[in-house]
Amino acid sequence: MIVASNFKTNHNRKSTKEFVDFINNQNYFSEVRIYPPFTALNNFELTPNIRVGAQNFYPVQNGSFTGEIGFDQLEEFDVETVLVGHSERRHVLGESQESICLKYNFAKEKECEIVYCVGEPKEIREQGIEAVMSYIWKQFDGIDIDYDELVVAYEPVWAIGTGLSASLEDIKEVLDNLRAKVKAPLLYGGSVKVETTKDILDIENCDGILVGTASWDVNNFSKMIEIADNL
Ligand code: PEP
Repeated sequence: MIVASNFKTNHNRKSTKEFVDFINNQNYFSEVRIYPPFTALNNFELTPNIRVGAQNFYPVQNGSFTGEIGFDQLEEFDVETVLVGHSERRHVLGESQESICLKYNFAKEKECEIVYCVGEPKEIREQGIEAVMSYIWKQFDGIDIDYDELVVAYEPVWAIGTGLSASLEDIKEVLDNLRAKVKAPLLYGGSVKVETTKDILDIENCDGILVGTASWDVNNFSKMIEIADNL
């Protein structure tokens, strides 16, 4: 099982270190991923099942891209896992599928693990599963689904940060459809809470969770990992 925390624009350098150290000292055996803000990246000494990664990057090694972070900067902190295509980057920050593909391909060239996020907005969900899957498959345009270091996160846009999780049936239906074509591990994300973690992880074809809000409290995140460890 993979249990991942996306800090988004939360936590600072000190609180991130405390968070990562706490998680690292628990001897969990699930695969744990933590995505802090760039400014909190560090040379953490981690057990092999725990990785600290980047929420974003600019698809260059280095160069003149004021305000951006390339791989020279990530490699300084041994970053080996990145998020690509997160809904906030697509829908709030306006990233196109074209620029998402550039990032995907760059991270793939670097042999970095990619947690690739897909998911439909509310108006598409309201049209039913066929519309949902057709929307999601378009988000795979230009994406190599056979990449060995790929992890796919199904995150409905309307469920992210809203407190409204998708129903277990809806999650299962999308993950089953994804599984028919994608062999990579499949995560669900969208207002996952400690109380909903077990039921979500119990879904067939669900290999883990990507969590924002509920994971920012280290005790909650620990409980989620413990649930995954006990499955
Ligand atoms: C996310 O940021 O990927 C996410 C799922 O956030 P939240 O858990 O807050 O919905």
